[in-house]
Formats: sequence, structure tokens, C-alpha cells
Amino acid sequence: MSPRPAAVLLDIDGVLTIGDLPLPGALETVRWLRGAGVPFRCVTNSTRRSRGSIAARLQALGFPIPAAQVFTPAAAAVRRIRGERADSCHLVATGDVHLDLEAGGCRLVDQDAPFVVVGDAGEAWSYGAMNRAFRLLVGGARLLALERDRYWRNQDGLSLGAGPFVAGLEYAAGVEAEVMGKPSPAFFRLALDDLGVPAGSAVMIGDDPVSDIGGAEGAGCAGWLVRTGKFRDGDLAALAHPDRVLDSIADLPALLG
Ligand SMILES: [Mg+2]
Repeated sequence: MSPRPAAVLLDIDGVLTIGDLPLPGALETVRWLRGAGVPFRCVTNSTRRSRGSIAARLQALGFPIPAAQVFTPAAAAVRRIRGERADSCHLVATGDVHLDLEAGGCRLVDQDAPFVVVGDAGEAWSYGAMNRAFRLLVGGARLLALERDRYWRNQDGLSLGAGPFVAGLEYAAGVEAEVMGKPSPAFFRLALDDLGVPAGSAVMIGDDPVSDIGGAEGAGCAGWLVRTGKFRDGDLAALAHPDRVLDSIADLPALLG
């Protein structure tokens, strides 16, 4: 890989932000990327917000990032569902992520759904929600996991992602989920196609050893791990083989400059 990658893919949670706060140096790094003409896209496994509301939140924090440069698993789910000529799904999620599915032409239904789409539903999970999804799956619906992260870090600590619930549904219904977000190579390709660069000349920067670094490897990108967000020292030995390790995103301009 050349010293300066042709494009950068940035994870958001744990790289640019923690909870509702920017990480130190993150604003400066994003402004530097724009000023230096290094194209970038945000690829997030966040499934609680639509692209528009993710971009609005980033802009409120000072990041100059429009919605069109934010790629979410819901966008990949729309492509998957519409690719089967289907136009409906049963969604288990929270926040306004439903907007991206509806905008893409997927009606949200509780019965006769060809797809069950599972995101990080937070407090919306219940026995009833799991059981409704389970019954649809047993009836033949396909399971699409917007993400299957085991956990993430918000302001009060490590918190369960969608993964444990997806695994529970797979176990109960005897099915296997298709993952729409990272580490799915198809998800990385959505952003790389938009950038118009080959995978081999891009770098993915993230804090998740499996979704970000493993995903980058599977997609053919370099993977750079940051020691912020959910990073734990054991990740390096047990889970990830990053091409580079950064203390934080604040180190990026010096590396690329
Ligand atoms: Mg992250």
C-alpha cells in the first residue's frame, strides 16, 4: 500500500465519538482530511438512527459530514430486500432507523414478512418481540442482521449489541442470519463503490477487532485499529491483526501528512 491511502473509511462510535461527545482530536482530523483532499466515508454499524439523523448528530458536534457520506447497515438491508423483489419486512429496532427502510421502499409489517430485520433494539427487546420474530422465521422468513456486534461502549460502559439477540433467534429457529453491516464485505463495497476506489488502496479505521479490522481484511482493505472506544488490550492478541495500531484518530494527520 502507498504511504497515503487513496481513501479512508471511518467507523464512528469509538473512533470519532463516544456516546454524545467527540473524541479528542477527532474534529481536527476530519477537518484535516477534507482540507488535505483525502476522500472518506463513515461506515457505522449503528442501527438506532437513520443516515440523516446520524449526520445531523455529527454536524451538531462540529463534524462536516453530510448524510450521503454516512453508510449504515439499513442501506445494505434495503439493497438486499429490494434485490429479491420484495417490498416489506418485519423490523426489530429502535430509534428512527425505520426511516431508511421506508425511504428505500420497504414497508414495515408484523405478519407475512419475507424478511425479519434485526438491529440494536435496546430496551425494545422483550419476550414478545423475540417471539414474534421467532414465529416469522419458523414460518420461512429470512433473518437479516443489521449488525451482530457482541457489545459496544456507551457513556456508562460496555453494552449489548444486536449480536446476542441475533444468536438467540438463530438458535431458536434453526436459521443463519445474513449480516448486513460490518464485517460483511458487501457493506464495505457500498462505501468503496461510492468513493470509486479499489479496496486495496483504502484503509478502514475502527475500534472493533472483528467488525472493523476483520471486516476490512475480508473486504481487501487495510485495517487500522484505534486504542479508543471499545478497544481492550486483549483484543490485539486474541482477535485482531491490524495493519497498524493508532492511539487514537488524532494521530491520523501525522501518519498521512
Ligand atoms: Mg466502533
